[in-house]
Amino acid sequence: MKRWFALLLFCLIFATACQGPQKTPPSSTSSSSFGTSPQSPSSKSLPGASNSSTPAEKPSGVLPEFNEDNTITKLWEGPVEHAFFHPLIIAPEKAFDGSYRERGFDDWMVTQDEMKKIFAHLYKRDFVLVKPSEVFKKINGRWQRNPNLRMPKGKKPIIISIDDLSYNEVYQGHGFSDKLVLDSAGKVTAEYTEEGVKKQARDHEIATYINQFVEDHPDFSWKGARGMLALTGYEGILGYRTQEDAPNRSAQIEAVKPVIQALRNDGWEFSSHSFSHDSINHLSMKKLYKDSSMWQEEVESLLGPTPFYTLPYGNMPEDDALKKKTDLLNEFGFHVIFAVGFESYIEPNPSHPNFIVQDRRAIDGLSMRTQGKLDDLFPVEDVFSPHRKEHPVGEDNSVK
Ligand SMILES: [Zn+2]
Repeated sequence: MKRWFALLLFCLIFATACQGPQKTPPSSTSSSSFGTSPQSPSSKSLPGASNSSTPAEKPSGVLPEFNEDNTITKLWEGPVEHAFFHPLIIAPEKAFDGSYRERGFDDWMVTQDEMKKIFAHLYKRDFVLVKPSEVFKKINGRWQRNPNLRMPKGKKPIIISIDDLSYNEVYQGHGFSDKLVLDSAGKVTAEYTEEGVKKQARDHEIATYINQFVEDHPDFSWKGARGMLALTGYEGILGYRTQEDAPNRSAQIEAVKPVIQALRNDGWEFSSHSFSHDSINHLSMKKLYKDSSMWQEEVESLLGPTPFYTLPYGNMPEDDALKKKTDLLNEFGFHVIFAVGFESYIEPNPSHPNFIVQDRRAIDGLSMRTQGKLDDLFPVEDVFSPHRKEHPVGEDNSVK
């Protein structure tokens, strides 16, 4: 419960700039879909799924399935992990400087040293990046987990997503990058300002670091996967002020287009994170329509259509509005909805045929301080940054 309460407070600290005067805080709610208790998909079998064709189980009689590069693949019935991050702290001394924002940065972000250790551990533990579009498919008119998902033998799938990668003004001067740009070789890199001088480095943002990591470890990516960027629109995207009321908007739009294209070429996919970052439970049907229209006009027009919708704060619509609001999201083309949970749970048999839900696991200071469960992804005690200061866990952090 504290987790949800703390999640909503993220808005109070980081999303204020997008919303102007704060609305009523969202009610604390479970993100688990359809009112069912989260269960591990690992305990379930998908209809028609079988391991019987893998070479290990049946070395003779059935041909093994090979990927294009001759990797032996195996039908994957276990959980598909999905972990998400926020923008990366590259200067912890600025983020953790004792200001009233420090606690929020500590709770919701990871530092550069933590990021590098996390991906080294994920790789060592045989996780492999997989595209959301590989995991979620529309089959026979129904959105579902891909029952034919195959993985390289011995590897486990993980989707990585990064939320709120807009580099809002509230981050500036606090140890974050300013924007994503292309370097002289045409690769996406992060631009940041150090002592008034603009510099670029791929390990100054998680998305660009993943690109670099995959270049160094090609077997960390399955079928060219990188991850998913969940973007709002109220302060533009990727560090470019593309929102309607921004000065020099058309120049900003032209400047971000090649960055989007390069990310897509790299294997990144995109998700709506709503336009305004308001909790879906605070939006009337009319406001949800307006919010989705604005995302469509100002963000989808740049990214292209996507079936993915990442709920702000991870809040699913409350039961009485669930059908109406998901129907509305469906009308805007969103069919795979990402919430937040303590495990990467996929609703295996949705009663609503037009959408499917996956819970994602937060990787941030709060989850490292409070969730031993992250240990199946990486050893928290090895990753946790010494730059983080001691503070009580789980307190109200909205006001300092
Ligand atoms: Zn968010």
